[in-house]
Amino acid sequence: MALTATQILSVDPATEEVTARFDAFTPEQAEAKVRGAHEAFLEWRRESFAERAVPTRNLAVLLRERKERYASLMTLEMGKPITQARAEVEKCAWNADFYAENAERFLGDEPIGTNARSSFVAYEPLGVVLAVMPWNYPFWQVIRFAAPALMAGNAAVLKHASNVPQSALALEELFRDAGFPDGLFGTVLLAGGAVEPLIADERVKAVTLTGSSATGERIAAVAGRHLKKVVLELGGSDPFIVLSDADIAAAAATGVNARTQNNGQSCIAAKRFIVTADAAGAFERAFAAALERLVVGDPKDDRTQVGPLARGDLRETLERQVAESVRMGARVVTGGRRLDRKGYFYPPTLLADVTAEMPVLAEETFGPVAALVRARDADDAVRIANATPYGLGSSLWTRDDALARRLAKRIEAGSVFVNSMVFSDPRLPFGGIKHSGYGRELSAHGIREFTNVKTVWLGPATGPQMAQIEAPAE
Ligand code: NAP
Repeated sequence: MALTATQILSVDPATEEVTARFDAFTPEQAEAKVRGAHEAFLEWRRESFAERAVPTRNLAVLLRERKERYASLMTLEMGKPITQARAEVEKCAWNADFYAENAERFLGDEPIGTNARSSFVAYEPLGVVLAVMPWNYPFWQVIRFAAPALMAGNAAVLKHASNVPQSALALEELFRDAGFPDGLFGTVLLAGGAVEPLIADERVKAVTLTGSSATGERIAAVAGRHLKKVVLELGGSDPFIVLSDADIAAAAATGVNARTQNNGQSCIAAKRFIVTADAAGAFERAFAAALERLVVGDPKDDRTQVGPLARGDLRETLERQVAESVRMGARVVTGGRRLDRKGYFYPPTLLADVTAEMPVLAEETFGPVAALVRARDADDAVRIANATPYGLGSSLWTRDDALARRLAKRIEAGSVFVNSMVFSDPRLPFGGIKHSGYGRELSAHGIREFTNVKTVWLGPATGPQMAQIEAPAE
């Protein structure tokens, strides 16, 4: 069924059938959502943290109550295995509880010792935050940004990815049902660049994007023209470094999980497996065996570990990346050819003998395709890990703690997880450097992104101010 610019379709990627169809918003409808959010903000910003925590806690309660419904919706719209979808809803509830509990601690006035009678830093809300979100974690990406943004006193307008409109509307309903003021959280149904005029709207004070680096460049450019604050959570090509002394069996088992979770469509999925030469053979065998054991199938089935990719075009991109890499000399250890069945399925795949110019290393791969590279030693592994335009997460496997601490400092990434896969946790900052974006989500850092960090200085001064001290004579 053809998609016109005015239609937004929900397609089940396991069956390729259209399950819902919506008209995209007119500019007037979109403007009304911004207006509603702005008006709600004018009251909401004056509420105490305790008052804001009430609907935020309700959000967590409703998420848990409606877990099955929301999980099924995500699985239907983007093909996530149902067990992982349930876990996603649980994690959203945790994040809501976390910020209901901790926002005041993160944003309360912060006394600073100066020569004032009293001086402090206050964290004040900015206004309407426009969120442009991806389809891969339809609920988590939204709650990850919205729970802290709203607890900080902001309002939100969500422009979700076009292939998850039912999730986008369910989220708007969820915030309303939780008791947030009318309009404080609004969803607009718009395709891609149609959201750009909203960035220019005077009432929109900031933009948060989770998406590809290409979209990040566009949004940052538009936001820059209008001097709007931006947080960008973009793509990644995370290294998974395995050194000779590592527990190879554990590294391979975790590596497979890190690569194939969410059908391989995670920004922080391990994508480049960099293994020192003496461990590479054992790692390759263990990894391939674990990949082949994965249950690929209907994402609605509890036993399924890998479902379809979310859209047909994403599978085509992955196929091109694999085909070109193989043409350039990569060896297919397992997988490598699309499955002969309805739905956008692609099998768990391992390519070995991969080199820097091959697309599976040079580009982000968004699907269950792992690239295995041999490194001479730990130094060489770090060099290869850093040879990427991206810098989101990274995983390092060694039994030598001192070495791990030293290497962690040298890896160019927003996080380093030692003897673990990379994951997000409300208590820890999340984000990247280089083409993976800037700004942070989660933790105290995340909730402060959309605040005015205001200095308040109460005089008269109790001592001399540096500005008033004369420079010593030459
Ligand atoms: P995408 O094309 O960049 O889409 C992300 C969002 O941006 C969607 O809502 C999309 O809307 C919108 N968009 C697309 N073009 C736009 C434009 N010109 N102006 C404004 N908005 C625009 O990303 P994707 O390929 O669907 O998602 C996967 C990417 O997201 C991967 O690169 C992945 O690594 C990254 N990601 C990063 C994180 C992180 O936390 N760092 C997390 C998850 C995913 P439409 O759907 O309507 O086009």
